[in-house]
Amino acid sequence: MNTLAIDIGGTKISAALISRDNQLTQHTQITTPASASPTQLYEALVAITTPLKADANSIAVASTGIISDGVLTALNPDNLGGLKDFPLKETLSKLTGLPCQLLNDGQAAAWAEYDYRRESIADMAFITVSTGVGGGLIQQGQLLTGKRGIAGHLGHTLADPHGPLCGCGRYGCVEAIASGRAIAAQAVDELAGKDAKAIFTAFYQGNVQAKAIIERSANTIANLVTDIKATTDVDCVVLGGSVGLAKGYIELVQAAITPQPLALQVPVLSAYYHHNAGLWGATLWARE
Ligand SMILES: [Zn+2]
Repeated sequence: MNTLAIDIGGTKISAALISRDNQLTQHTQITTPASASPTQLYEALVAITTPLKADANSIAVASTGIISDGVLTALNPDNLGGLKDFPLKETLSKLTGLPCQLLNDGQAAAWAEYDYRRESIADMAFITVSTGVGGGLIQQGQLLTGKRGIAGHLGHTLADPHGPLCGCGRYGCVEAIASGRAIAAQAVDELAGKDAKAIFTAFYQGNVQAKAIIERSANTIANLVTDIKATTDVDCVVLGGSVGLAKGYIELVQAAITPQPLALQVPVLSAYYHHNAGLWGATLWARE
């Protein structure tokens, strides 16, 4: 039998069946409702689970936001249309009649990346730099979820107390400076109104402003990596997400770490799972 894996993100909701021998099939994807009201999210979950539930015997979910006691809450409401306290586990169990396990998407991706490297490492951090900045922490082979689901929300650690207001309500979070959304928000003049992808294109073409914005993002992530090393003594930090995996970005992060004290340096590796890390991570973790 299969696990019905679901990944609820800020822009899309994807699902697939993952078999016991790790075959991923029937991958489907829908757009996350623009304002993720409880009714709209419920309808989206009906649409994505209905074609797959008959071939599954359990559900594993990775979702943006805070997952605590089976309830989904958005820490940064921008990422999930202001959704607050959605009973995700109960809703999915009722819809499908199947047992359901939930994880935050950054935590799920961290578990997938750890699973890929578990022969050689015990302590690891995962950072995804995408529309937002998320993450997850593995200590001694265990995923830290936290009693209230907050563990590993690395995007909401402080980067600059004088920085811009983050969607979570705090000033100067890593996410407010380094994320794809923040990269776009900092652009002015010839780059005004462009998205992160277009700003990377300008960077590759030698645009000075694009270079400064992207270097600021990479320097912020480098400081986060160094802080994580100082706090947890991880063996490595894995970087993922559309910004984190963009050509040249990881090299900028590594270059910003090199001048730091040797004891605080740590290898930064590219994520193995470019896509579907949430689907795999939630499934692999649910099996443990
Ligand atoms: Zn924040």
